[in-house]
Amino acid sequence: MTEKTVSILGATGSIGKSTVDVLRHTDIPFSVKALVGNRNISLLAEQAKTLRAEMAVTADETKYAELKELLAGTSVKVGAGKSAVLEAATMDADWTMSAIVGAAGLEPSAEVIKRGKTLALANKETLVCAGDIVMDMVQKYNTTLVPVDSEHSAIFQCLENNQKNAVDSLLLTASGGPFFLKDREYMETVTPQQAVAHPKWNMGAKISVDSATMMNKGLEIIEAHHLFAMPAEKINVVIHPQSIIHSAVAYIDGSVIAQLGNPDMRVPIAYAFGWPQRISSPVEKLDLPKIASLSFFTPDEEKFPALKLAKQALKAGSEATNVLNAANEIAVAAFLDRKIRFLDIAKVGEKVLENIKTFKLNSVDDAVALDKKARAEAEIVVQSLEPK
Ligand code: NDP
Repeated sequence: MTEKTVSILGATGSIGKSTVDVLRHTDIPFSVKALVGNRNISLLAEQAKTLRAEMAVTADETKYAELKELLAGTSVKVGAGKSAVLEAATMDADWTMSAIVGAAGLEPSAEVIKRGKTLALANKETLVCAGDIVMDMVQKYNTTLVPVDSEHSAIFQCLENNQKNAVDSLLLTASGGPFFLKDREYMETVTPQQAVAHPKWNMGAKISVDSATMMNKGLEIIEAHHLFAMPAEKINVVIHPQSIIHSAVAYIDGSVIAQLGNPDMRVPIAYAFGWPQRISSPVEKLDLPKIASLSFFTPDEEKFPALKLAKQALKAGSEATNVLNAANEIAVAAFLDRKIRFLDIAKVGEKVLENIKTFKLNSVDDAVALDKKARAEAEIVVQSLEPK
């Protein structure tokens, strides 16, 4: 087996740690080029040492000295700040995991794409913020893009070796999050702790809140639209609380092909790392009799307006999805800081979408500029919602 060179952007996060675990269990020989984190410097240094990385980067410039000190006496090159993150993304790795959280992942993903190797994409915001531009770049640079989001990995697997023109629709499953069975009155007063306590998946705080509002599923519809060139009307969300079926593809002959597995991100990460081969992973085997039953429901878009909002933004185009994503990131951060209430999160997205209408995206730089503008607008909306 030939050795793969690997970089992990967002190595210290939930996806990053799962990626490191998959690497620790794989038979495929690999060496690590770059690891990127932000504030968890002790973990980043530990990962860089044990994986013998060529380079370790923190996005936070104020943490440079701490990282440098922890890696003193090793051969690991140390960097800090946005330019070092982009330098890490340009290192010549065969396989790069893009798992930075939020729109901050867009520019590093774009740098990876320009190298024409393999991008394992967990950072859905790359496509939500600049989907048309990014997919054009993937074509232009002949990059291999393997989705890591469990739903998109599932669809990718269900599409393989099948006729793409025989697809009737994509069925995107959703756990429903922690408030699936709760009413809006209950959601009025939920705390950040309740919102991040996902019943099935262990994830970072931002995506956990997005799962609770169902904005995550909205962002995933947008992601699926770009990844699989599928119109919004052909992407249907199905609530499936057990999170065993990770998504499915319905074909015109009436067949539905689904991918199943335990809810563990190491499954799609191992798939993306091994692709086009399958490799073993340290994940518990699926025991269907133990699970016994699987259930399905139609999502309630009145109860979870974020879902409707994301669909509207997708119809309006890449500019609107970029704006919605930025507004949502600011709103989620404000909710986690207890500045606004849970149900205000979707209101921020709605208001910012109303306020920013004219903007044309022609490049990644445009997408970054629009993201910045939408964040500033969202901060103003958040302030107007904060209790006086
Ligand atoms: P986490 O919050 O757990 O981790 C985020 C990672 O990004 C950390 O390594 C963090 O560093 C780093 N980071 C934060 N800000 C910056 C920045 N400005 N520049 C560079 N690095 C930064 O997030 P998740 O792992 O949950 O999610 C990562 C991405 O994967 C998201 O886009 C999410 O939507 C997607 N995803 C996640 C899934 C999951 O199960 N968690 C499932 C499917 C998709 P540090 O921790 O050191 O501060």
